[in-house]
Amino acid sequence: MRLFSCQCCSRILFFENERCERCGSVLGFLSDEATLVALEPAGGDAFRRFGADDGRTYRLCANARHGVCNWLVEADGRATLCPACRHNRIIPKLSDPENRLAWGRIEDAKHRLFYTLGRLGLLDAVDTRGGREPLAFDFLCDGSSPTARRVMTGHRGGVITIAVAEADDAERERRRKAMNEPYRTLIGHFRHEVGHYFWSRLVRDGGRLESCRAVFGDDRESYRDALRRHYREGAPREWQQTHVSAYATSHPWEDFAETFAHYLHIVDTLEMAKAFAMTLAPSVDRAGEFAVRYDGDPYRAPDIHSLVKVWLPVSTALNSLNRTMGKDELYPFILSQPVIEKLGFTHALIAEATRGVRAAA
Ligand SMILES: [Zn+2]
Ligand SMILES: [Zn+2]
Ligand SMILES: [Zn+2]
Repeated sequence: MRLFSCQCCSRILFFENERCERCGSVLGFLSDEATLVALEPAGGDAFRRFGADDGRTYRLCANARHGVCNWLVEADGRATLCPACRHNRIIPKLSDPENRLAWGRIEDAKHRLFYTLGRLGLLDAVDTRGGREPLAFDFLCDGSSPTARRVMTGHRGGVITIAVAEADDAERERRRKAMNEPYRTLIGHFRHEVGHYFWSRLVRDGGRLESCRAVFGDDRESYRDALRRHYREGAPREWQQTHVSAYATSHPWEDFAETFAHYLHIVDTLEMAKAFAMTLAPSVDRAGEFAVRYDGDPYRAPDIHSLVKVWLPVSTALNSLNRTMGKDELYPFILSQPVIEKLGFTHALIAEATRGVRAAA
């Protein structure tokens, strides 16, 4: 994620802002350009970009009226929902105000996911709306249907289910502890589950099964049996030397999804570090291991090593800052050499899939 600035008054803006706090301009996110723009009225509910005379007009996404989206659609187009909201299949019942709040938190995380997928070029390279398994989201409350007595977050055949209960911090923390996880967030859920989706699109449908198995192991092992074994026996003792999380050891599909999520964590967080021109030069670091001045674009990194080289010092600094405020580490993970190789596979897979759209851009 990056920082934006108001075209009307130059104030710094953040991704979720709906109005500029200094000049009051209505703001909207233009997904084609991955940028937040200040708007001025153009008749009815239409807007044009502040100071623009290109004749183009926009409307806010239909979900803006619920306060859960600040993205734009073309005013003369047929779509009323923006590219991030179009994939929703089931949303929670809004008659309950608690649900509206929970949905808002879920949408914040989902819109950040779509920002990242767009910046990577994956939304242009992969037909997420059509194909044999279009990408869809079900945001389900416990007990909302006979089949949803206790909703489990997961992916199946292109449909990502998010348990609305996870939007509640206390409940998510309870589940994190029960599962013995160091990290559990809504954005982490989205980045993980979409990893399963892109495994289907890019690995299974993209003819990459063999090369993926060489890195992540053989996914033909029974998924059900593997998960049962994982919940019964836990992860192998030395798992940190080979996997990014204990859960990643349960099955190669989970390893891929966990690794995919970490790739997204890394590129998006590094983009924000770059937006703040974050420079690290700890005086006690005589060997220069933690010295960072990053000028690259993590979404266009040439290889995984150029990202990892920066990520290690940046995440160490962020962990240390969190600890000074009594918070858990921001990034409580270790990137061992085999994990970096898996991240490298993910990087190459995405780079290969999006080469055409990146060249066109
Ligand atoms: Zn402004
Ligand atoms: Zn929207
Ligand atoms: Zn999974």
